Amino acid sequence: MVRASRATKQKELIRQEVEKTTSFFSAADLHARSTLQNIGMATIYRYLAEAVKNGELHTYTCNRKSVYSKGKRSHCHFECEKTGKVIHFDIDNIDFLKNKIPGSITSFQLEVKGICDKCDK
Ligand SMILES: [Zn+2]
Ligand SMILES: [Zn+2]
Repeated sequence: MVRASRATKQKELIRQEVEKTTSFFSAADLHARSTLQNIGMATIYRYLAEAVKNGELHTYTCNRKSVYSKGKRSHCHFECEKTGKVIHFDIDNIDFLKNKIPGSITSFQLEVKGICDKCDK
């Protein structure tokens, strides 16, 4: 009984932190939050896996790591090859993809590499 309620409380704490996020986040990002520091990584991973299964969260690969997001169903990622800095951006129009795909799109991931404006000067 005691164990079960503790697990429920931990889940609630994680859920609250996820609610505060506005962009992509990783399990490590959550673990770094002051309210979640006493919660084990395994618990956080378990929570995230469950949330993805339930459709509450979406998961993408970001720099060979898993990142998660609440609402967005696309992960658009630009990486500067000089510094490795990552910039996330949104695409408003995906008609160019629709024409190529024999079905409807529910999520997508786009990884673009190049030299950012700062490094190009
Ligand atoms: Zn990314
Ligand atoms: Zn750069």
